[in-house]
Parts: sequence; C-alpha cells; structure tokens
Amino acid sequence: MQKTLSRPITIDGIGLHSGCKSRLVLNPAPINHGVVFCRTDLPDRPQFPALYTHVVDTRNCTCLGDSHGNVVSTVEHLMAALSVAGLDNTLIEVNGPELPIMDSSALAFFRSFMAPGVLVEQNAPKHYLKIKKTIELTEGDKHIKLSPSAKGQVVHFTIDFPSPIVGHQEFAGEITPQLFEDEIAPCRTFCEKYQVDYLQSIGLIKGGSLENAVVLDGDKILNPEGFRCEHECVNHKVLDAVGDLYTSGYYILGELEAVRTGHHHTNELLKLLFADENNYEII
Ligand SMILES: [Zn+2]
Repeated sequence: MQKTLSRPITIDGIGLHSGCKSRLVLNPAPINHGVVFCRTDLPDRPQFPALYTHVVDTRNCTCLGDSHGNVVSTVEHLMAALSVAGLDNTLIEVNGPELPIMDSSALAFFRSFMAPGVLVEQNAPKHYLKIKKTIELTEGDKHIKLSPSAKGQVVHFTIDFPSPIVGHQEFAGEITPQLFEDEIAPCRTFCEKYQVDYLQSIGLIKGGSLENAVVLDGDKILNPEGFRCEHECVNHKVLDAVGDLYTSGYYILGELEAVRTGHHHTNELLKLLFADENNYEII
C-alpha cells in the first residue's frame, strides 16, 4: 500500500552553502500525490515535484527548480531516506533554498521516518517501476547501467578516487531497509581539502565543517573520528544514487551498476529510461 505520514514532522539544521538555519516540515499528503517540495519563504509558495524532469542542477548535489529560477537544493539524501522508508506521499515545506545538511548522511532522516507510528498506510496500492530492458550510458571512463533484477533494488557501485586513503572501493548489494540503515544511511559526503578551500573562497559552503563532511587531505583524513565504516565513500555514492533514482517518481525494481558516476549521470539515465516505454513497466 502507499504510505504517508501520520502527522507532520519537523527537522531543523543548517544549509551547507548559506550556513543559515533551515527547517523542513514534512506533511501528510493524499494518495498519488508523490513527493513535492514547497518553498514557504517565497511569495506564492512555489512547489517543486521531486522528479528527474524538475532537476535543474547536478554539479554538487541534486537541485530541483522551476521556470522562474526558484530552487530547492541538496534533496538527494532526504530522497534516499524517503525511498527506502517507503514514504510515497508527502508535501515537504522548506524555508529556504537548501535542505538542512545534517551530518551529510541520511541517518537522521531515515530514523525519523522509521520510528514507530510515523508512517501510515493509505487505501491504494503502491506502484513500482520494474526495469524491463537494459539501458546504459557511458561518458569517458564513467559508466552507468540499469537492468532487470530478479530481486528488488540492487546497486553495484565502483569508485576510483585519487586520494590514496579512498582509492578503489566497491559496494554491491540489495537495498533492504536493514542494509540501508546499517551500511548506507550513516555514510557522509566526502571531499578534498583543496575543494573546500576553493568553495569557501567563492563564498560557498559557509555551513561546512567537519561535523557535516569527511574532508581528505592527501593521504590523511582531517576528521578526528575517522571514517564511520571502511567503505564510507563508496557507500555514500550508493546513498546519492538511491536518492536520485527516487526522482523517477517510483521505487525502482532493477539493478543499477555505476562506475565513477555522479548525480548528472543518474539524471541522464532516468531521461533515457523514460524515453521509451518498452524499457519499463509500472506494476
Ligand atoms: Zn551525497
């Protein structure tokens, strides 16, 4: 069955780039509403369906926008938590252009949805998107592919990062709620110190700190606590991919194979997926 929230949930944090306080209020929504964001700080409270067709920027995060230039950015970690928690219908109010970054993982979001009594079933069946044909995209040494799966949603992600502390990492597994909570949701965004220095020099990531990113400097990690798990970096890429796949509007039953890809490639793959209705089936 489709699910929504039993009551509104409020989540407070700061925006990564602005450094300003950011508040999310996730509200219950009717059957077949889907996930929709709403900017409550703007006149007329514009709405942004969380769909791949409304993605306007994928450079540092997944950013939704409208034709007037209004945006809601960094939706992917929340989208991953919504996807795996099975939350189909919600109107998400946000009081600025950025979602709260939290610790740059999805754990706080996921735990708030999985707490007893938070989600309720609605009186309509849930629809899934089942992959029928393999679709793939290659760009240089980056490759991404969605193919039919005998299981649910399976992800195989590979990264090769220049920093020796990250290097080559792979994740392969079926995205069950238990695996997501244990191995994927806690994994934070990672970046190199020189990237942080550059972004700060142009007035971005004012809210960035070691509280909300893993920062690498050559062969060192600057966070005193170290990594949360051995393969935190690739597992975070899995988190991003699961969140971006949910901008299809469905929980996708299929196998994603991604090599060195980012938000842009997942978005392009969804465009290819929906370009031919023989590629999929809504069940
Ligand atoms: Zn991310």
